[in-house]
Amino acid sequence: MAVSSHTSVKPREGVVTLADRWPLLGQRRPLVVYLCGVVTLGLVVLAFSAATSVVRGADVLTFTALVLCGAVCIEATRRLGMPAGVSRDLLSAWWLPVALLLPPVYALLAPIPLQILIQKRVRETVLYRRVFSSAAIGLAGYVTSTLFHLGVGDPSELTIGVGGPILVAIGCAVVFTVLNTGLIAVAAHTADPESSWREVLWDRESLTLDVVELCLGVLVAVTCGIGLPLLLLALPPVVLLQRSLLHAQLQAAARTDAKTGLLNAAAWQREADTEIGRARRTGETLALLIIDIDHFKRVNDNHGHLIGDQVLIGVAAMLRSQLRDYDVVGRFGGEEFVVLLPRADGVEARRVAERLRSRIARMAVPVDEVMLSVTVSTGVAIMNVHGDDLIELLAAADLALYRAKELGRDRVCLPVVPPARPPGAPAAAPG
Ligand code: GH3
Ligand code: MG
Ligand code: MG
Repeated sequence: MAVSSHTSVKPREGVVTLADRWPLLGQRRPLVVYLCGVVTLGLVVLAFSAATSVVRGADVLTFTALVLCGAVCIEATRRLGMPAGVSRDLLSAWWLPVALLLPPVYALLAPIPLQILIQKRVRETVLYRRVFSSAAIGLAGYVTSTLFHLGVGDPSELTIGVGGPILVAIGCAVVFTVLNTGLIAVAAHTADPESSWREVLWDRESLTLDVVELCLGVLVAVTCGIGLPLLLLALPPVVLLQRSLLHAQLQAAARTDAKTGLLNAAAWQREADTEIGRARRTGETLALLIIDIDHFKRVNDNHGHLIGDQVLIGVAAMLRSQLRDYDVVGRFGGEEFVVLLPRADGVEARRVAERLRSRIARMAVPVDEVMLSVTVSTGVAIMNVHGDDLIELLAAADLALYRAKELGRDRVCLPVVPPARPPGAPAAAPG
């Protein structure tokens, strides 16, 4: 299940505004309307289904056991921390059995205690996100549960082996995933209308996780349907999967620069070192570019840091879109980017650097109904010509960048190589 991005609550020192107290009010109006609409719908459906449901002891016991399993999962992964941005968990392994085995009202209730636990024990975030997540998961679970009970009648039929009820359960689990992803994607798109639907809805990694969650949810439902104590067998593997998923997300987060999504400096250096080692072994050529945005301080001074950040994000996206999959692109710091071009010689490196320079110069970031554009200066260094290892290549490219700045910016420069000495000629006197 995708969990919307988590921003820690940090009131600014001094003045506490209404938006600090109620961060929802600081959001775009369409987002506020959408979030309030989903939460109100959740509450209305909860009130209606609570009034029309019959409480049975066995249902309450199953519900408590499944919620406890979810709580154990959260506690068991709590110490690992939670990556910033949109993160994933495997809690559907518990929401789905609640939806499939119990009357629909329980599907609306299940997310509430677990979201409170995450808020209190894992990461505190703005409250409206937790409330919205509970409502979105609850509504998706409610529809799933209603459909399953209409299709199968008696949920205990899930345990009689492969057949109709299992297929209906799988179909309902797909509905759950689609609804929940859809509700969260609409919120993400309303919050940032510039983002593409494809970006907020789908990527291969999250599709794989959706399939894993769906399988886990149906398996846990069948296991739990056979006998409640069997949950003790299902719990450890789910906890282990949840821990390894979180571990992978934390590892990925540690490699990337949060603002631009490019590799951070440390990860870029590691990957660049590996590429340089490979080029040395195979005798292939390779080029290194340092790209620095010109007069970036002025962008911040004139338009503010947030617009400055938009420019950084735009330049990073342009670099990624213009380079090959195996080129290594990173944010080196501030407004400086580094690119390693495996198998590129001097001519190719200059051609690529020129293309990046002209594309970035033509790029425009909208600011207050005017379009803001920036230029970049680039220093290029070629393996075996300007240096033999990463440190030498970085130093050479940095010198070339310095030259590009001195010559007036918005250009690509290579380091000045002293003319080759004819064989036998005496070395030039120093100074
Ligand atoms: P030059 O053409 O010589 O490179 O000039 P410059 O203004 O680009 O270079 P300088 O080093 O003077 O300023 C870099 C600025 O980049 C200063 C710093 O505030 C800004 N900066 C660094 N990181 C970030 C960031 O993450 N976001 C924003 N908005 N600004 C940043
Ligand atoms: Mg600069
Ligand atoms: Mg700089």
